[in-house]
Amino acid sequence: MTVDDSSASLPPLDFRSDTVTKPDSRMRSAMAEAEVGDNMIDVDPTVRALEERAADVLGMPAALWTPSGTMANLAALSTHLRRGDRFLAPRNAHVLINELGSAAWLAGGMPDPLDHDGGPGRPTPATVRAAAGGDGPYYALRTTLLSLENTHNAAGGAVTPPEEHTALVAAAHDTGLRVHLDGARIWNASVALGVPPATLTAGVDSVSACFSKGLGAPVGSVLAGSVEFVEQARRMRQMLGGGVRQGGVLAAACLVALDRVDDLARDHANAKRLAAGLRDQGWDVVEPETNIVLAAAGDVSATIATLRSLGVLTLPMAGKVRFVLHRDVDDDDVTEALDRIGKGIRA
Ligand SMILES: *Cc1c(COP(=O)(O)O)cnc(C)c1O
Repeated sequence: MTVDDSSASLPPLDFRSDTVTKPDSRMRSAMAEAEVGDNMIDVDPTVRALEERAADVLGMPAALWTPSGTMANLAALSTHLRRGDRFLAPRNAHVLINELGSAAWLAGGMPDPLDHDGGPGRPTPATVRAAAGGDGPYYALRTTLLSLENTHNAAGGAVTPPEEHTALVAAAHDTGLRVHLDGARIWNASVALGVPPATLTAGVDSVSACFSKGLGAPVGSVLAGSVEFVEQARRMRQMLGGGVRQGGVLAAACLVALDRVDDLARDHANAKRLAAGLRDQGWDVVEPETNIVLAAAGDVSATIATLRSLGVLTLPMAGKVRFVLHRDVDDDDVTEALDRIGKGIRA
């Protein structure tokens, strides 16, 4: 690989994550104008409006705003699991590798990763049934939860289609497991599959979703489930320090974010175009299903450093170079990135 870094001073094109998206002026004015109240003493009307709308969109009876997706997942796992319970999740799930072991350390669960034998990011129902085991004597390990992820980040934003989702939930419920869905990017899955988000939550006991990724909100996620589940999770959120007062300023941004789900189609088209362009330049690229492009490299950190010198910012993921498309990189930026990479790197 030879490098020409004459372009070192070019303004960077940021493909590190869809979390780098910044609130635009429409979002900022919605935040500035939000009606607010003390959400712990009584209620913040904008937080309540967001929770009701999010529950509706996700097809769940109730929902709870949280500051981050990590807190939403932790509140969910802490509510579902008792200490020592084993839980299943597809290998490399965010709850397994990106949340600092909090599923074990704070929620008390014993994680068991499942192979992606059903397709990228998902096990087969047979694998879930086999891993769940069944009733045993008092000294038997208890497995109580399946935690799915749609889209699956480390599998390159892979989607689980509705029929497979439903079969996985059925396998879990038949074997006595509850189901949590980490739907941080459920919006991307919904747009890619052309089905409403609620179709992708069918049967789950809880679902988390992020507003602070491709939808562009600065802060905010949601955790949805039954009314009883959300009441328990609300106590958990409080213990974790996630009870906020005039949260409406933040929830207002999440409401604007929810209006922008359809825009994700542009990110998906840009991901396909970036992947095709990289492939034309000799890169080995996984065909993207949503907004994440994984590209193989002999030396991932050296390649990321070279890309940075060309003004193209990326991060490592699953042993590859990860490019994430989002609303703050437009069509021209993708063309420009391909141009910079083509001029600077000979694969
Ligand atoms: C980003 C992400 C989260 C957590 O989101 P934060 O808001 O960054 O804490 C959870 N799950 C998946 C799959 C994610 O990609």
